[in-house]
Amino acid sequence: MKLVLIGIQGAGKSTQGNLLSERYNLPYLSSGHIFREMAKEKTKLGRWLKETLNAGALVPDDTTLEVVLTYLEKPEYEAGYILDGFPRTVPQAEAFNGGVDQVVYLAVSDREALWRISGRVSDREDETLSAIRKRIELFHEHTEPVTQYYKSQEKLCIVDGEETVEEVFAAITKQLDTIHTS
Ligand code: AMP
Repeated sequence: MKLVLIGIQGAGKSTQGNLLSERYNLPYLSSGHIFREMAKEKTKLGRWLKETLNAGALVPDDTTLEVVLTYLEKPEYEAGYILDGFPRTVPQAEAFNGGVDQVVYLAVSDREALWRISGRVSDREDETLSAIRKRIELFHEHTEPVTQYYKSQEKLCIVDGEETVEEVFAAITKQLDTIHTS
C-alpha cells in the first residue's frame, strides 16, 4: 500500500504516520524530515534549504521531486510506504502519478493547529509564529488543491483530525481496512 497523509502542520500527520507504519508494517517517510536533515549540511544547498525552511516557504517542485523520488527508489520502499508531507503541490502530485494508492486528509482547523503547535515543545528552528502562519497559508494555496486532485481520482478519504489520537487512528484504519478488504 502506498499511502499519503495530508494535513496542515499540527494535524497529527507524524503521530498517525508512525502508528500506521507499525500497524501495516510499512516504512514511514517525511519529506520535511529529509529536508531538515539536509538543511544541517554546511554546503550551499544546506544553507539555502535552511533559509527556505525557516521562512516557512516551500522547497521548489523540481528539487523536492528529485530528492523524494531518489529516496523512494531505495529497496525498503518497494512494497509500499507512508508518506508525510509529499506531494504538497498539484505539479508534485502529477509528477508522482502511480506512486499513490490512498490519501488520508487529516482535517484540522487553522485555529486548532495553531493552538496545538503553540502548546508543544519543539526543537524545530522553523517553528516561529511567522513561519507557521506562512505554512498554513501555503497549505490552503497549494496543498488543498492536491486533496481535490486525489478526490477526483477517488483516492481521498477525509478524517476529522480534531478527535483524540486513538479516535483518529481508529477512523483511518477503519477506512483503510474497508478499502483493502473490499
Ligand atoms: P514539514 O515537516 O512537512 O512541515 O516540512 C517542513 C518544511 O520542509 C516545509 O515547510 C517545506 O519548506 C519543506 N517541505 C517538506 N515537504 C515539502 C514538499 N513536498 N514540497 C515543498 N517543500 C517541502
